[in-house]
Formats: sequence, structure tokens, C-alpha cells
Amino acid sequence: MIKKIPKPVKEVLEKLESSGFEAYIVGGCVRDLIMDRNPKDWDVTTNAKPEEVQKIFPDSFYENEFGTVGVKVGKFIKNEDQNKEHDVIEVTTFRIESKYSDKRRPDQVRFAETLEEDLSRRDFTMNAIALRIKDSDFTIIDPYAGQKDIEKKIIRTVGDPHERFDEDALRMMRAVRFHSELGFEIEKNTFEGIRRWHRHMQHIAQERIKDELARIILSNNPAEGIDMLHKTGLMNYIIPELEKGVGVSQNRHHIYTIYKHSVLALKFCPSKKLEVRLAALLHDIAKPQTKKGEGAYATFYNHDHVGARIARKILERLRFSNDTTEKVSLLIDNHMFYYNPEEVSESSVRRLIKKVGLENIKDLIDVRIADRLGSGVPKAKPYKLRHLEYVIDKVSQDAISAKMLKINGTDLMKELKITPGPKIGAILDVLLSEVIEDVTKNNREYLLERAKELEKEDLTNLRGMAKEKIDEKKEEEDKELKGKHWVK
Ligand code: ATP
Ligand code: MG
Repeated sequence: MIKKIPKPVKEVLEKLESSGFEAYIVGGCVRDLIMDRNPKDWDVTTNAKPEEVQKIFPDSFYENEFGTVGVKVGKFIKNEDQNKEHDVIEVTTFRIESKYSDKRRPDQVRFAETLEEDLSRRDFTMNAIALRIKDSDFTIIDPYAGQKDIEKKIIRTVGDPHERFDEDALRMMRAVRFHSELGFEIEKNTFEGIRRWHRHMQHIAQERIKDELARIILSNNPAEGIDMLHKTGLMNYIIPELEKGVGVSQNRHHIYTIYKHSVLALKFCPSKKLEVRLAALLHDIAKPQTKKGEGAYATFYNHDHVGARIARKILERLRFSNDTTEKVSLLIDNHMFYYNPEEVSESSVRRLIKKVGLENIKDLIDVRIADRLGSGVPKAKPYKLRHLEYVIDKVSQDAISAKMLKINGTDLMKELKITPGPKIGAILDVLLSEVIEDVTKNNREYLLERAKELEKEDLTNLRGMAKEKIDEKKEEEDKELKGKHWVK
């Protein structure tokens, strides 16, 4: 376990100890070490006061009221998963939090004398474990039996859950986030505590809710996390619009209720992107309010467009970035795109690409796959979707245009002194057809030389030369693409 602790972290611990203070690594990083996961960040706790920490580490900064000093160290890889270099270790003085009158921030931060006091303010038993290093040996301080709970995969508050959630409402969302990130169960009393105090969520800033929600959505068990938000009652304060689909049946095409289908679409979403997963969860958000009729023939006209608007409102309220909000909204707006190989022309696929952008097409297909799998349809990518991918690949080759050439019409007019006219376009077409076959020809000198020769040909000849080559090439590409997408 000690081997996994980065050298700069060990050095900070040693320096504090050799200056006569106690120092421990603590919190999530100890939990992650015990579970053999890569810690997201490294937290050190000490009885040295912030000013004393700053004296020991002159290259440090103290810019908050919570007793946390950022100590600058040599660059180290903080998290192998993210593969990012980091150079700050947070050193926090032991503290005890006094009264929380606004349910989110302690009124006052008091420094504590002992590690035990500091551990008692932490949220869950698994996060209240400290580790002290002595030479090459270590001691674990675990007053709330966090190691046992880690082994049993249980999330349990330190002390009485009612008190702890009444103090700080964000802890309730953290519990659900750990449930979906770690796959741990929320212990019964802890769960009851959330059920009792969920209304305190209204005091929590939307940004903080968003951060936890994004982590739930990006975790390995996002559907379990979302369903836990529902079961605990927390969802009413996060995305109440999702609750409107609970128990609402659909029509003959669907076996699940709107809510269940939404959660399953998220569960089966093939993409790891936040935007695509959010779109999978919210794609039918407008179904409850657009539902007309009951039973097998109920309809949901316009739910895609209305849903795009509702999703935008939800994501703006939660302070997701503009880019995320726009992308999710776009994917929802277009999730009902019609595609049937027998009926749909290449030009309509081109129009779809133009509407959503080539860069979003794969994500849109992923939302469609999520939608299908979340409906209980067994096949993720039926022939129709594979065929669509093939046509998309094919029509995006149409982008092959004279624009990709290293020379343009103006160059021809200048260098070859040709007057403006159709011959210029014809020469560029021939050049393009040659470049498609051999990209090494796409350099200025060669193209100008070749253009000089071509200029001697008449217009009809030139047109014939270009067409022949391009048609040949397109046919070849077509065969290749069909093979790639299994639609031969
Ligand atoms: P991760 O880094 O994976 O998000 P973490 O448990 O390390 O998980 P941090 O937000 O980094 O979470 O917090 C570090 C530690 O601070 C926690 O392990 C916990 O001991 C304590 N802590 C964080 N937030 C709270 C809170 N709201 N109430 C009580 N203790 C908290
Ligand atoms: Mg952490």
C-alpha cells in the first residue's frame, strides 16, 4: 500500500513530522488505497496550524478559511486514470466544524487538537480513516471501523445520520455518488436519514449539485445512481421533471414506463461522454406532458422538440456549461430522426448531417442505440442503423471537393495567365481526380506544372477526363465502405 503513495506526498508527511508535528494522509485517498483504486487527490491532515505549515513549506499558499494550505511540490502523476500531472498537495489543519445554520457551510471553522476530533467531522466511515507513515512502516487510525465497511461495501455516516445530514445536505448527494461510483450499498439508517432530510437539498448551490450529478452520470453505475436519487427523494430537488414520468405508461411499442425507460436508456448508453449520457437520460423528458390518449395507441407528438427545450432549461438551471447544454439539447431535438434504407435518400442523410453536424452524428446514433436498448429491444445496432452509418460515411466523402487542393482558381489565373471562365473549374476537377488517386500529387509545384499541360486540352476533353476518374474512384470507395459496415 505504501508503495502506491507518491514520493512528494511522503516527503510532505516526513517534513511535517521532522518539524515536530503529527501528519497523516486522510479521507478519500486512504479509502482508495485500501480498495486498490487510484486516488483522485491526496489530502494530508496535521496538527500544525496553517501559519506553521506555511513556514515549513515556503512555496505554499493559504487562500481560504478552512485551514487548507496548498503546498507546491515537484510534478507528480496524481491519478493514473487521468494521466495529469499535479504539483500541489493540500495540507489541512485538524478541525472540528461547529454549527451549520445554512445546511451547507459550518458557521465557523475551529481547529481541533486531536486527529480523533478531526475524523469525527468527516462524512462516512470509509472516509474517516487516517494513515501515518513511520519510516517504511505505517499505522492505520480507524475509529469508526471504516475498513470493515469498505470490506462489506457499505456507506455509513460517522455518527447519527440524522444529525449529519441535518448539518450538511450535500453529504446526502455524496452518499448517492459513492453508491454509483464504488458500487457500495447505503446502510439502512443512513438511507433513512436521507429520506428524512432530503428537503435540505434546497439549500445547496446548483453548481455543487451539478458536480455530484455529473460524477454519478459518468460513473460505472449511472442508472443505479439516478434510481437511488429517486428512491431517496433527492431527485425532487435535482431534476423533478424526471419524476413526472414515474408510473406513466407509454404505448404498444413500449413495455416500460417513461421513467424506467429513461433510466434504462442511460444504463445501456454505449457512450462514455457526459453529453450523450445526459441526452440518453433526458431524451423522453417531454413525454409525460405531450402524451395524448391512453393505452396501446397513446401518442407523444413533438416530444423530441419540446424535450430539447425542457432539457435546456434543466441544464441551464443546474449550471452545466453552454456547450454541454447546447449539445444535449441538439441530440434530444434530433433523436427521432427517420431512417429506413429503402425510403431515405442520400440527400436526406446529407440534410441530417447538415442539421446536427458531422461531428455529432456518432453521438446521435449512440443516443438512438441507448433508446433502443432501454426499450428492451435486444439488438443494439440493427441493419438499419448500420446502413445509416454506411451512408453517412459515404456522403461525407462528398466533401472531397476542389477545396482540398493546394492551389485554387486564383493561382491558375495568376500563374498561367488564364482568363476567368469554365476552363479553370475543369482543370481543377482533373487535378482533383488525380489527387484523389495519389495524394502525393497534392503539392503546388506539381499541380502548376500539370495545370500548364492541361491548359492545352479543350474544355470537353478536360471534363471527360475528370468524370471518368472520379466515377471510377467513387465506385471503389463504395465497395470498401459497404464491406466495412456489413451491408454488402
Ligand atoms: P473523491 O476525491 O473521490 O471525490 P473524497 O472522499 O476524497 O472522494 P473529497 O471531496 O476529496 O472526497 O473530500 C476529502 C475528504 O473530506 C472526504 O473523504 C471526507 O473525509 C471529507 N469530506 C468531504 N466533504 C465532506 C462533507 N461534506 N462532510 C464531511 N466530510 C467531508
Ligand atoms: Mg478526494
